[in-house]
Amino acid sequence: DMAHYRQCGFLRYQPQFEQAIAERYSLLSQLRLALNEDQLFLVLQPKVQLSDGALVGFEALVRWRHPEGRIIGPDQFIPLAETSGLIGRLDNKVLHMTLAAIQQLHQAGIRVPVAFNASGVELVRPLFFDTLQQTIEASGVDPCWLELEITESQAVEEYDLITPNLRRLIQMGMQISIDDFGTGYSSLTHLAELAATSLKIDKSFVQQMSESANGDELVAVIIRLANRFGYQIIAEGVETQAQRERLLALGCPLGQGYLFARPMPLVEALAWCQARPGSDADVEPA
Ligand code: C2E
Ligand code: MG
Ligand code: MG
Ligand code: MG
Repeated sequence: DMAHYRQCGFLRYQPQFEQAIAERYSLLSQLRLALNEDQLFLVLQPKVQLSDGALVGFEALVRWRHPEGRIIGPDQFIPLAETSGLIGRLDNKVLHMTLAAIQQLHQAGIRVPVAFNASGVELVRPLFFDTLQQTIEASGVDPCWLELEITESQAVEEYDLITPNLRRLIQMGMQISIDDFGTGYSSLTHLAELAATSLKIDKSFVQQMSESANGDELVAVIIRLANRFGYQIIAEGVETQAQRERLLALGCPLGQGYLFARPMPLVEALAWCQARPGSDADVEPA
């Protein structure tokens, strides 16, 4: 049938299409329910100093606790939320949960910035930034504890539209990270003037580092560019000691990945912090 598709440009009707559509529709109505019934929750993954593992921040990542018991990851429902108009409510929910997590961390004496991910679809909506600002103000959380992660492709594709808004957030004291950096083909013109405080090296580059001879070169260039343009730099997906050491040698001071900790529910994240030496650290945002 794929041969037929390549020849004719359309697919012959097959009964499994109907099943696929039915499944998508069913997942969609379940997701709508999940939003109403608080089945979504956040896990927190530490961002650390590569030299000594000291905590410098967290990233909040969304999870769906399906009523049947399994936990569903964002890759399986964010795209669906984006194409069905549910993403606005989802992102808003994530923002509220992130602000609540910041307050709970503060109560436990842990003061580090917490990042949340916002969908590109939402960032271009005119009211997104107003709502964001109002929600932060209403929460009473100082914006310096909040960080927004947006992907590089979004930051570049919608550059003119979202840049002034991102600048407003930076002026409020928020941190802005360009996520999955290196995968979105920033032009050099834009790189010099991205409205961002930090770049996150995509985990695919970190993983390539160990695999190919010139794998290091890409990471080295990204780190040099970040330094040149005054962005903080952090590597994601650090899984091995060798990667950690190589990143440090190349001049990347911060990292995130399974080597240090997996994303954890808040209670576990608190325990993780308490189990560490110097855990009462009061880290000021950079
Ligand atoms: P991301 O923001 O780049 O998040 C990093 C992903 O890498 C997370 O997957 C994390 O669990 C995973 N990861 C962390 N350390 C390691 C490691 O050492 N090795 C490997 N192989 N993976 C690691 P996750 O949680 O499945 O999230 C996937 C993507 O979904 C995120 O990529 C982000 O783009 C999106 N996402 C997550 N939460 C939200 C959310 O609340 N709202 C929106 N709009 N998007 C979200
Ligand atoms: Mg992220
Ligand atoms: Mg990322
Ligand atoms: Mg990524």
